[in-house]
Amino acid sequence: VSKEVKPHIALLPSPGMGHITPLFEFAKRLVTNHGILVSFLVITADASAAQTQLFQSPDIPAGICIVNIPPVDMSNVINENTLVLSRVCLTVQESLKLLRSILVEVKPKVLIVDLFTSQAIEVARELSISVYSFYTASAGLLAFSLYLPTLDREVEGEYVDLLEPIKVPGTRPERIEDLLDQVRNRKIDEYKWFLFHMSRLALVDGILENSWEDLEPLSLKAVREHEYYKTVQAPPVYPIGPLIKPDEFITDKDARIFTWLDNQPPDSVLFVAFGSGGTLTSEQLTELAWGLEMSEQRFILVARNPSDASASAAFFNVGGDQNDPSTYLPEGFAERTQGVGLIVHSWVPQAAILGHSSSGAFLSHCGWNSSLESLSHGVPILAWPLYAEQRMNATLLEEGVGVAVKPVVQPGKKVVGREEIERVVRLIMEGEEGKVMRRRAEQLKESADTALSCGGSSYNSVCQVADIWKSLV
Ligand code: UDP
Repeated sequence: VSKEVKPHIALLPSPGMGHITPLFEFAKRLVTNHGILVSFLVITADASAAQTQLFQSPDIPAGICIVNIPPVDMSNVINENTLVLSRVCLTVQESLKLLRSILVEVKPKVLIVDLFTSQAIEVARELSISVYSFYTASAGLLAFSLYLPTLDREVEGEYVDLLEPIKVPGTRPERIEDLLDQVRNRKIDEYKWFLFHMSRLALVDGILENSWEDLEPLSLKAVREHEYYKTVQAPPVYPIGPLIKPDEFITDKDARIFTWLDNQPPDSVLFVAFGSGGTLTSEQLTELAWGLEMSEQRFILVARNPSDASASAAFFNVGGDQNDPSTYLPEGFAERTQGVGLIVHSWVPQAAILGHSSSGAFLSHCGWNSSLESLSHGVPILAWPLYAEQRMNATLLEEGVGVAVKPVVQPGKKVVGREEIERVVRLIMEGEEGKVMRRRAEQLKESADTALSCGGSSYNSVCQVADIWKSLV
């Protein structure tokens, strides 16, 4: 009996847990559900503690081989003023100088890149390897990204100076104030890098989108059926999400969080966290702490040093930053909220916290992974976008999906005031609107479960693309 040859796929995420986590989850599913072998190529330069921990986990399935791309010296390439996307892209660029020899050795049939590792496309093509892209953000941003090269040609001046929302073909018009940071100043490297990678989406054989039919019907229909995307020869799009971190291994350090949660009533705790990089200004953090206290609701606050310089200051030192919340939270805050609130440090098992039955809402920066994790656990969102494309996500969740509420900044103010925070926290935790949002989030949880189960829309999309890969063997 001839033994079936398993297709061999390589995945190449860009640095950052928001990219690595969904690609790794995808890798596990390919191995477990579809009989595929995976080489998971890991850029180790600039790796966070969370990244190192992930790949040391004892329960990585046998069909996944972790291939470390050795760290490179970045000292001449980046400095402390290099902005976040440029830093990611430069790290990728330097690290990928070794890619050819790695691919020659690993010999995959297919390479899956992500948003910011598209430099690998040419090397893969030279080696006759098919290339797919895993789009780790929303289908809404995917549509925008496929439209960006056109926009870049047709619009003179800055997009932020446009007087009308941007009409992305087939989707909801994009409000100027929601535009992602990377396109708000066309003169700087952040824009050039973003445009570079998004222009290259057209070069791949297919795009795997971490979303699902019921969450983003409009954008998914657009990128697959609207005339514009056909005209620009956008590759086929396969919605395969929501792929999120499954139940995590709980370390001793984190055990007290779950003991505490176990003792709280169902749906009673607001989880407050800003992703791997989100950082508030000192003034905003003070208002947030006061607002939480005044709301008299239970909460878990992931405390992180404030920064007045950047909303993504923590991005490159997650897990490594030692901080002492008593030095930056209002005096007596911890004592006054003792029992009602739990203050925890830098990196926590977010998905597991959201999955706990006591979690009732999530005050989130609306990173795409955080949004998917919240919805996959039926948890409504208090939307607090900070950087990248998070304002777009927040608007989608609030207006398009009906699972989120955004606090309002008073005219002329730079921060959300404590009374407003108290209002929205009460609204989502105990108000009627909160109940409606929770029901909607629970519906989406069910729809996500269905999409991912055997026969569901996302499951079928993966089968479809896996069949193509199997035919390459
Ligand atoms: N995360 C976590 N613990 C933390 C902070 C973040 O597990 O303390 C995870 C979170 O669950 C999510 C990812 O890191 O999977 C953050 O990705 P997201 O796209 O939400 O935001 P980003 O960090 O990329 O801005």
